Amino acid sequence: MGWKQIKSCGGRTRTLHLKGADEITTAEEVKQALKATGQIRHKEDLIVKTLRPTRFGTQYGTIVMNRKDAEVILRQGKVKIGLNNCEIEEKIDIFKCYKCWGYGHSAAQCNGEDRSNLCQRCTGADHIRTGCNKDPYCPLCATEGHMAGEAVCGALRRATQRPSSRGLRPSTVNREQILEGAEEGG
Ligand SMILES: [Zn+2]
Ligand SMILES: [Zn+2]
Ligand SMILES: [Zn+2]
Repeated sequence: MGWKQIKSCGGRTRTLHLKGADEITTAEEVKQALKATGQIRHKEDLIVKTLRPTRFGTQYGTIVMNRKDAEVILRQGKVKIGLNNCEIEEKIDIFKCYKCWGYGHSAAQCNGEDRSNLCQRCTGADHIRTGCNKDPYCPLCATEGHMAGEAVCGALRRATQRPSSRGLRPSTVNREQILEGAEEGG
């Protein structure tokens, strides 16, 4: 099971994303609403890290809570804040392998192709990504038009889909993590 390698499976807390809070919701109200579900047993771990406005007139939040509490909240999938039923989903950090550019494993565990010396934009062998003006090509999808790891990449989307048997919601990807991984390849 590749999921063991996903970072967010370890540690005491989980990071969740909240969607659909109305534009006047405060961090304190998000906290209160979560506590009001009666499912938060570790109140000391509950932190509303950010609340950001979206272009739909709602707010998008990042919440940290105890791992056990998060499991229960994720199973519910929603929390009522004010008049809004807000969606809750897990944020997942995914390893990006800098050797084959695949997801869900590290270079040390890689049995894929070694692409670490190729241009990350066009996969050309004689130059690096910086300054490359060729068309992007994704070797993971064998498709032109995007680079490995872009949001449209099918390989990335497949890697972020949870096993449905666990009953969890589809997740979002920590983009910084991916970009970090990409930098390692140089
Ligand atoms: Zn690999
Ligand atoms: Zn190139
Ligand atoms: Zn792709």
